[in-house]
Amino acid sequence: MAYEHMTELFINGKRQGSSSGEIRNVLHPADAHLVATFHEAGASDTVAAIDAARHAFDSGHWGSFTGEQRGKILERVADILERDKELFAKAESEDTAKRLVEAQYDIADVISVFKYFSTLAPQNHDREVDPGRQNVRSTMTSEPIGVIAMITPWNYPLLQASWKMAPAIAAGCTFVIKPSELTPSTTSMMMDVFSEAGLPTGVANLVLGSGAVAGGPMSTHPGVDMVSFTGSLATGKRLMINAAETVKRVALELGGKNPNIIFADADLDAAIDNALTAVFLHSGQVCSAGARLLVERKIHEQVVTEIARRADLIRLGGATDPDAETGSLISAAHRDKVERYVADALSEGAILRAGGMRPEGAQFENGFFYRPTVLDNCTTEMHCVQDESFGPILTVEVFDTEDEAIKLGNDTIFGLAGAVWTSDSDKAQRVARQLRHGTIWINDYHPYVAQAEWGGFKQSGNGRELGEAGLAEYLEHKHIWQNLAPAPSQWFVPTKGKVDV
Ligand code: NAD
Repeated sequence: MAYEHMTELFINGKRQGSSSGEIRNVLHPADAHLVATFHEAGASDTVAAIDAARHAFDSGHWGSFTGEQRGKILERVADILERDKELFAKAESEDTAKRLVEAQYDIADVISVFKYFSTLAPQNHDREVDPGRQNVRSTMTSEPIGVIAMITPWNYPLLQASWKMAPAIAAGCTFVIKPSELTPSTTSMMMDVFSEAGLPTGVANLVLGSGAVAGGPMSTHPGVDMVSFTGSLATGKRLMINAAETVKRVALELGGKNPNIIFADADLDAAIDNALTAVFLHSGQVCSAGARLLVERKIHEQVVTEIARRADLIRLGGATDPDAETGSLISAAHRDKVERYVADALSEGAILRAGGMRPEGAQFENGFFYRPTVLDNCTTEMHCVQDESFGPILTVEVFDTEDEAIKLGNDTIFGLAGAVWTSDSDKAQRVARQLRHGTIWINDYHPYVAQAEWGGFKQSGNGRELGEAGLAEYLEHKHIWQNLAPAPSQWFVPTKGKVDV
């Protein structure tokens, strides 16, 4: 498929420009070349998209699809993505500047997500409840929530979108999705995939553009039943406040400041190697990045010296540079933020052990590159330990005991992910169970599977994506009580005989 209209909005089954005629140029972050010029939706376009999704949900056609039929559509989506995976990987890599090989992994993960939810869609979740009396049938059943407003970030554009779109379709919802204005390509291409897979008109709708304008009605419009958001804490809070006015369901996947805990009895070769991947993969622009290294005091110097040495050797480059190990940051504004963050950390007393600057060389001049950076001598009260940088920055703290490691690991407003490195399996399990984060890896970092729920404790969000709970997010639960032998209750008009009616 050519995906030739991907720069346009997709409303009620049709590609169209924005009503205002406004446009936005999307630039490649590694060298600032023009990727494409996209139509920029105004609020009225978003309202039209919500109306289309509302109509598709309320009109009955989509509602008449069985779980098996919805599952078949998801299977076809996975097949089309498999056919076109190289086109998708290339587009994802162009928008984000992530290495092509990483974009290829992402698209493979997206395919797994659609396949997984295709198997959940046909499952019947009805449950008979014992009502504790005779002649009553009491059934718990579930139904799609309705119209979902989906808002997604720029770091894993299609992967984050798939965690919402696949379960929403499996559940029988309709939706309007707004990808980040920085990385709209692959989410837009999906609209053509859905059409080819036979998704009925109006079930999937797409608006492109800024959060403030195109995204505005998504959390306020009464036609939306649920807001499903992945992005920053600040935006998540704003959406939650907006959604309160009409009591929408709100699912939030927000930031993290994730502890990576290395005990002295760990396999240090593996721990050090994975500590680098944990934080520097995709230049640290990963919500679950292991940006906070907690290391036992007696191995601190050994571990930090080696991490810093290897960090200095990491090769930066463009997305298709075969020698590059990581790429640029997403934008000039984001690199400015990362630079300020490092400057503030140093003024708070952090010690620079690696990086702390832009790379030198003509090939980096037009992109938004920043060197992998290691900040030692950090403590929990410092901003650099508490605030998410979302860049290639590792902060280092030390601990002496297991209890202290747990206390430090939980000393954050976030609760998304973390890891424990030790050769003592009992200790690993003890620590893992006491850390208040949604995912804990033991002697590993980053892997996840579509069957296991993903999400945050505390201010990393609410609700879960993936797994069975990831489908349940898009379902309302209904209790049906059927009296099989109706009789007067005689509560208000106690009579001896039958009441005249
Ligand atoms: P962001 O909050 O700036 O933007 C996210 C999306 O929200 C974008 O599409 C943006 O246009 C939109 N938006 C902004 N203001 C809006 C408004 N008022 N109304 C409607 N939409 C609005 O976040 P970002 O910079 O794109 O993403 C980075 C953040 O995402 C980081 O904090 C990261 O930790 C988080 N993240 C979390 C997860 C997770 O699974 N928990 C995954 C990926 C990213």
